[in-house]
Amino acid sequence: MTDRSAPYGGDEFATFNHLESEVRSYARSFPVVFARAQGAQLFARDGTAYLDFLMGCSSLNYGHNPPELKSALADYIASDGITHGLDLYNEAKESFLRGFHETILRPRQLDYVVQFPGPTGANAVEAALKLARKITGRSNIIAFTNGFHGVSLGALSCTGSRYHRAAAGQLLGGVTRLPYDGYLGSSVDTADYLDHLLSDASSGVDAPAAVIVETVQGEGGLNVAGTEWLRKVAVIARRHGALLIVDDIQAGVGRTDAFFSFEAAGLRPDIVTMAKSISGYGLPMALVLIDRQLDKWEPGEHNGTFRGNCHAFVTARAALEHFWRTDSLAASVREKGNLLKSRLDHIAQKYDPDRASAKGRGMMRGIDLKSGQVAGQVISTAFQNGLLLEAAGPKDEIVKCLPPLVIAEDQLSQGLDVLEDAIASVIGSTRACGSVRGKS
Ligand SMILES: *Cc1c(COP(=O)(O)O)cnc(C)c1O
Repeated sequence: MTDRSAPYGGDEFATFNHLESEVRSYARSFPVVFARAQGAQLFARDGTAYLDFLMGCSSLNYGHNPPELKSALADYIASDGITHGLDLYNEAKESFLRGFHETILRPRQLDYVVQFPGPTGANAVEAALKLARKITGRSNIIAFTNGFHGVSLGALSCTGSRYHRAAAGQLLGGVTRLPYDGYLGSSVDTADYLDHLLSDASSGVDAPAAVIVETVQGEGGLNVAGTEWLRKVAVIARRHGALLIVDDIQAGVGRTDAFFSFEAAGLRPDIVTMAKSISGYGLPMALVLIDRQLDKWEPGEHNGTFRGNCHAFVTARAALEHFWRTDSLAASVREKGNLLKSRLDHIAQKYDPDRASAKGRGMMRGIDLKSGQVAGQVISTAFQNGLLLEAAGPKDEIVKCLPPLVIAEDQLSQGLDVLEDAIASVIGSTRACGSVRGKS
């Protein structure tokens, strides 16, 4: 009998170590082979349960295998519904488009047409950039410090991370980088700086086709753009003939409470990119929402073989049906977001306000530990105690909490207890050893 867990000899990870590229990343922080998942929990092959605050990096906002979505998908598969249909008209797509229009767009008076690019976030960003350049006849794009927009070449040009940019192995052009809100401290309004540069014909910044912005920088370190700053950037973009692209791939689909993260600021972006949680089930799916007046695409100008993941249409439609017909999910995200904030603030205060501070918005929040090494130790300690979390920020110094939006409050508290214990054992030893909650 061969041991299924170690077909290549050695340890439990031998298969991956022998056969998978070194490019794998998350797996390295969580050395365990997972087998099942439900709600906020992942189960390892040996049955050990883990609380998941990583959640496919906000791709699983409704939790793992949400029952309502699972049954819709199972029914569709059982009835021989179309799986792959290029971009042919089909019922699954029709049903998604109608649901999206009726549940999301119409109530918000957003007159967007929907483009289905390839099924990843980077695909959506590439399409958005191309379209903005085509419409305006300009090539420059304004992107912000610490922004993350994906790693294909066009998207990567807009991404800040030096590590990811270096992997391109070629010049990344066509983008002017400007400071995000707060980048130069609270006394500098970086929107004014943007306006100044675009108003000065000799600033050296070419007139942009678009400004691309995240309302909360997920990968960049949970930096939150202020409402006023966002509104100002939108006005400045318009005044200078540039389109406003909001990249809502991570912050959208309820992560900050409303369906779109830009609703709180009252923005009406020209183009919106979505992916991650839009299918609701972890199935690959991406959207580009285009203001109807700006839909200047010619047929097939931007294409791809996988532009219609019918299974994702089915689960996305079921998610809209189940979670977005009322305001109750958004309201519970507001509540749990506040809980998350107060716990993280409390942890930071308790252990060392100089070495820890809470940041983020809604249910995408975290704790800035000022050191990648410390954050790494906290993540690994939390994992040993049954919690998955990831790091974000330029030095991976921010421990990020992305619990499912539907998590029960006691599970949320349980996860935060584990995080607090981990922080206590890593940085609290000098200050607060007496107050560590009893766990280990
Ligand atoms: C994850 C992410 C992307 C890239 O999406 P992929 O599906 O990984 O290509 C782009 N923008 C933001 C804001 C993201 O968080």
